[in-house]
Amino acid sequence: MRYLIVSDVHGNRDALAAVLEALAGDAFDEVLSLGDLVGYGAEPNGVVETLRALDCPVHAVRGNHDKVAAGIDEGAGFNAVALSAARWTAATLEPEHLEYVRSLPRGPLAVSDGLSICHGSPLDEDEYLLSAGQAARSLAERPVPLTFFGHTHIPTVFAGLDDQVEVAFLDGGGVSFELEAETRYLINPGSVGQPRDRDPRAAYMLYDSAARRVELHRLDYPVEAAQRRILDAGLPPVLAQRLAAGL
Ligand code: ZN
Repeated sequence: MRYLIVSDVHGNRDALAAVLEALAGDAFDEVLSLGDLVGYGAEPNGVVETLRALDCPVHAVRGNHDKVAAGIDEGAGFNAVALSAARWTAATLEPEHLEYVRSLPRGPLAVSDGLSICHGSPLDEDEYLLSAGQAARSLAERPVPLTFFGHTHIPTVFAGLDDQVEVAFLDGGGVSFELEAETRYLINPGSVGQPRDRDPRAAYMLYDSAARRVELHRLDYPVEAAQRRILDAGLPPVLAQRLAAGL
């Protein structure tokens, strides 16, 4: 099975559309969506509509911004910018798209034998998984061979067994590697719609489970168009500025 893995699209339809356009044809069989479809960006309806219109199975979990936009969580931990964007998103989402976001399950979600997805970490959907220690604890408590996670917006690979876990933050695109047997992995594909590793290009991954090969791609997309939509919508200007900086 060949999976397209997208995370943290954050209402940025321009970025998601560029990814799907780059992969038009026969590049993947199913999609894994790791949460935060909405929040920050100005096209939450466009993003949900695009994902729902895909002609293939989509396995999706909810993110923290999805929860606040859907009214599942009040966003007490959000800063003022995130909260105002979440409220704008809640008011902007069309009823059927709001219902789709509200119905997204909490991760981790088992996709197939040995493969699962979550937003934050397998132990806590809202946890930022950044250290080898956190990853080791998660892999010890939930020994799933391969989990894709999001939330940090930083392409990352944790690999190991029990307390022997190594971390690699992946720089740039065109990174490709094969998964080893007997090793457990927690892998973050980065963010499609709001990268935070100082690389403004959309990030996504492809995973071929037969070849056990993972690829990280980075893709230029019309950042200025996404920025203009944010400003036109009256969302906080900092949300437009950060897209160009990749922060
Ligand atoms: Zn996010």
